[in-house]
Amino acid sequence: MDVRFQLSMSFNLDKCIGCHTCSVSCKNVWTSRQGAEYMWWNNVETKPGTGYPVTWEDQERYRGGWELSGGNLRLKLLKGPGKIRTLANIFFQPNLPTIDDYYEPFTFDYQNLFNAPLGDDQPVARPKSLITGEFMEKVSLGPNWDDDMGGSPLYATNDPNLRNLSASQKELLTKFHKLFYFYVPRICNHCLNPGCVASCPSGALYKRGEDGIVLLDQNICRAWRFCVSACPYKKPYYNWANGKSEKCIFCYPRTETGQANACAHACTGRIRTVGVLMYDADRIEDTAKLPEDRLVDGMRDIILDPFDQKVIDAARKAGAEDNWIMAAQRSPAYNLFKKWRISLPNHPEFRTLPMNFYIPPLSPILHQAKADRGGSFDPEANDFFNEIDKMRIPVKYIANLLAAGNESLVIESLKKQMAVRMYWRQKRVGDVGEGAVRNALTATGLSEEDVHGIYRINSLATYAERFVIPETHREHKTAVDPRNMYEKRGSVGFGQKRKEFPSREW
Ligand code: SF4
Ligand code: SF4
Repeated sequence: MDVRFQLSMSFNLDKCIGCHTCSVSCKNVWTSRQGAEYMWWNNVETKPGTGYPVTWEDQERYRGGWELSGGNLRLKLLKGPGKIRTLANIFFQPNLPTIDDYYEPFTFDYQNLFNAPLGDDQPVARPKSLITGEFMEKVSLGPNWDDDMGGSPLYATNDPNLRNLSASQKELLTKFHKLFYFYVPRICNHCLNPGCVASCPSGALYKRGEDGIVLLDQNICRAWRFCVSACPYKKPYYNWANGKSEKCIFCYPRTETGQANACAHACTGRIRTVGVLMYDADRIEDTAKLPEDRLVDGMRDIILDPFDQKVIDAARKAGAEDNWIMAAQRSPAYNLFKKWRISLPNHPEFRTLPMNFYIPPLSPILHQAKADRGGSFDPEANDFFNEIDKMRIPVKYIANLLAAGNESLVIESLKKQMAVRMYWRQKRVGDVGEGAVRNALTATGLSEEDVHGIYRINSLATYAERFVIPETHREHKTAVDPRNMYEKRGSVGFGQKRKEFPSREW
């Protein structure tokens, strides 16, 4: 057992109001620079929708992530055998997103509003490109271009998550009185098996064993842009001004001192929590190779029980500090993903083992149920609890987004959330029968303690409960020495060849 630590963010999608405060905080702190104008390390997408860059989830087009080939994992990006694959792609990668897939960054000519000469017409602020400095005829794309346009035939119908939905299910998404949409905030997932790390010909990317943050060393980066292609989430970006790639750094200067990430700290809806997970690095490759329908359970298995004495002993032996072990025991990420099994990873089928998790939204289901029942919702209806999987809202859609198509995982999470709501409705309003609540708790396997815990973390939790981030002991060495990464690129997990796995001190 090789115990490592991972900082992990969880998002409650029911609570996101799509305000983009997170994106703006991140941009102000990290990417308000030349060459980085088009980058949104944190962005928020409306779903169903096409996202940023456009249709990033379509790996037939972008070829990010891993695929299984003859029982082995290999990057989708590279075709052909061995090193030839890298060489064949090194000067031209046909699957790289272009600026047209992101958007041409622009500002407006605000000065004209003040300085325009006297005339018959109202002065206007025309859009100006932040790349060329020229006026733009029209703005045709932006990082949240289809904001609030869920359900529109133009955007919703091009969403890659609609695959495998029946024609009638797809039609429902665009029927005006039935449509729903919700928001999905996205940052780099700081994956356990990061495609970006494995793909870099220069070995510029690395994952830190002590906190799981994936970083890019710009001194080593040679602008090959393999990381951009190989990341299925399209979270590394190429800075056209300085010729280096860059990516979300999980605000490590903040987390190392125990502070929440800028996006999470600023989040208006308080939808985000941050906590520590302990995992077994020896099992990364086996987990990433699991069949699609078992990937999420495999990811839950690789996360270790922070109360297990054997795990604690192994972590201490490896040099972990007690404050990290104690943080793992109070971790919202652990409770939501592993203990209560209500949060899920984004597109686990990309096989990078993403380490941020989403609580699937119940609201569209309720919305749809109300529409089905003529606009009313009877909380007493035990039937409703049992019929979540039969609702006309396509659970399949959420499963495609968060569970590699495995609907049972989404239904499990939704039923648990519904049981929590019924419990509190019974307590506070009293119009749900005690029997119905008891049945719901039994059916979902939740104890009253679980219900209180789930309710607390999603509603009243204080800053200290939402962000359980231990300070880092920077006086100790990191698990991976970036100076050696050139030799260790190209394989799964930490981007290192297993036989060269370094002894570790942190
Ligand atoms: S592969 Fe994972 S760790 Fe790498 S940039 Fe993409 S999301 Fe982040
Ligand atoms: S700040 Fe929070 S609520 Fe607002 S868009 Fe971002 S994640 Fe959603």
